[in-house]
Amino acid sequence: MSEGAKHSGKASRTTKGCAMGRREFLRVALGSAAAAAGVPFVGQAAAAKENRPQTYREQLETPIVAHYQVVVAGGGPSGVIAAVAAARSGADTLLIERYPFLGGNGTAGLMTCYNGFRNQRPPELLQTVKGIPAEYIAELVRLGGIADDDPYPKAEHGVTAGDLPYCIGFDPEAAKVASFNLVRKEGVKLQLHSWVVGPMLDGSRVTGIIVESKSGRQGITADIVIDATGDGDIAARASAPFMKPAEKGDRMGMSLMYRIGGVPSSVKGPFGGIRIGDRVVRWGPGFGGDGLDVENLTRAEVETRLKLWEQVQAMRKKPGMESVYLMQTATGIGVRETRRILGEYVVTEEDAIKGKRFPDVVAISSNPMPSYRRKRFFLAHEGFDIPYRSLVPKKIEGLILTGRCISCEQGPFQSARSMAPAMAIGHASGCAAALSAIRKVPPRKLNVKTLQKLLISQKVELRVKV
Ligand SMILES: Cc1cc2nc3c(=O)[nH]c(=O)nc-3n(C[C@H](O)[C@H](O)[C@H](O)COP(=O)(O)OP(=O)(O)OC[C@H]3O[C@@H](n4cnc5c(N)ncnc54)[C@H](O)[C@@H]3O)c2cc1C
Repeated sequence: MSEGAKHSGKASRTTKGCAMGRREFLRVALGSAAAAAGVPFVGQAAAAKENRPQTYREQLETPIVAHYQVVVAGGGPSGVIAAVAAARSGADTLLIERYPFLGGNGTAGLMTCYNGFRNQRPPELLQTVKGIPAEYIAELVRLGGIADDDPYPKAEHGVTAGDLPYCIGFDPEAAKVASFNLVRKEGVKLQLHSWVVGPMLDGSRVTGIIVESKSGRQGITADIVIDATGDGDIAARASAPFMKPAEKGDRMGMSLMYRIGGVPSSVKGPFGGIRIGDRVVRWGPGFGGDGLDVENLTRAEVETRLKLWEQVQAMRKKPGMESVYLMQTATGIGVRETRRILGEYVVTEEDAIKGKRFPDVVAISSNPMPSYRRKRFFLAHEGFDIPYRSLVPKKIEGLILTGRCISCEQGPFQSARSMAPAMAIGHASGCAAALSAIRKVPPRKLNVKTLQKLLISQKVELRVKV
């Protein structure tokens, strides 16, 4: 028996002989009620029973430490491009991120394939995502950060020539570096390790953000804030109306992405994931429920990580696979779907399916809807327009949305949430925020033709002449 096989045997014996199996561990770690019935395990019910106070009134005097013309909250694919676009368009810009690196679900979530630069199937002649996202990919190419193989069938296009195919697999560490390089080159001020805990408000106008970090609680004022948190955290806390995902049906679940190393050279192709040499990023165990509920998220992490460990040990027992090992898991489970904010226009399923064009187009999504009525639904056109109005939340001023929380129904969400369209939307939101801040015009009243001109001057594909 090889070393690898011996190791696997030991691991499974330990699990068997151990008094505390996975269910038992969950019961102890999360509370028996939680594990058994999926109900809250910490909280108000217990407090009420024991007559403890139900609320705590906080009195906070928060120091305001800085002012920027544009503050971008969230450094995922959309936020990074938004910050670069805002700075390039002349705004003094700050990018805030809770993690110690940029890239969002592409790096922290280990989802290492940027999908949706063009339709996956014919018609796919139009590259719908260009501009700063294409510059970002060029930086990844320069760093040698493009993957060897991925599982998505697609037509050939030359990544290195800048003619981007449907999707691009990448090395997550190179993506972190490429993101840093882009924001530094553009003069974006960066603040990592900082949770945005809410907006600063003057009535219904967002005037800045409150962040919590090791430096304490700080206020940062801004002419315009871009909500790039993916979950629409700032918009929701500013009391912007939003659509919740469906409880069942098409709601997209969570998955824990992981990377294995030591894949033998005898195993050819992407091996179900995104491959670089002997390393493959794969989709791990899934979990349902609400991606905004911290108890559900805690359960999801524990459940999927325990399950994944067992899955990889089982893989190692297969003949010829002894060298495989669990190299890395995502920083956090990948949450696909949470809030979609109600904006001045809600992009509909019909818009996506029919390939609707809008006079106020600021980005295009050509990605399929990956689980539309349980099937991968390919668009039968080059892409549908994302109108500027779907980036502007109803009722709240001083705020622009970007990324997967923009205003759309679930079908178009499935398409535009992919990282290439999310970057294109970021480009639009960054330019819009800069124009708003510099010209002192509220986002709702911005002249869209001026915005489109600016985007086209930055090589964005809009299919319109202005
Ligand atoms: C399992 C899974 C598989 C997927 N597969 C693919 C795929 O194959 N290809 C593809 O293109 N897309 C895929 N997606 C979708 C895609 O990854 C996301 O929709 C996309 O990353 C959205 O970009 P974003 O910038 O809007 O949000 P995110 O990538 O979520 O970035 C948001 C950023 O904001 C930060 N943030 C959030 N809240 C706060 C806060 N309060 N304070 C400070 N920072 C905050 C986060 O840390 C993060 O960096 C997948 C998603 C999942 C979960």
